Amino acid sequence: MNEVRPELAELLFSSLEDVLVESVEATDTVVRIEALSTARQATCPGCGYLSGRIHGSYLRFPHDLPTAGKSVVVALRVRRFVCAEGTCSRKTFAEQVPGLTRRFGRRTERLRSTLVSVGVGLAGRAEARMTDVLGAPSAGIPC
Ligand SMILES: [Zn+2]
Repeated sequence: MNEVRPELAELLFSSLEDVLVESVEATDTVVRIEALSTARQATCPGCGYLSGRIHGSYLRFPHDLPTAGKSVVVALRVRRFVCAEGTCSRKTFAEQVPGLTRRFGRRTERLRSTLVSVGVGLAGRAEARMTDVLGAPSAGIPC
């Protein structure tokens, strides 16, 4: 598995920088990708301060585009950074991985944009039936 890991990272997240795929596990119904952000710094959403001081980390589980008839979940380790800008009201903030996550998002950006396209193209019940078939229920699009 170790020799294919770099290829998996390239395949799964080819357009993303600073994401390291640690493992991929598949069951009958779910593919779980364990990954982490490797960016050295993150920008505070409150003031724009660029911080490299890490406060802690936690796991997020955004759903990704299904593959081979299986749901895909990314177990993504992200970090909280300290904002050292004295006038900023935020003391810490969570990093976002551009192209993968957004604040409070429960889906990857590519799944979110796909669901939006399906929703706009089909609308209503047809959209719900189609996303169920794809294994990525939209449940009222936002996020
Ligand atoms: Zn700040």
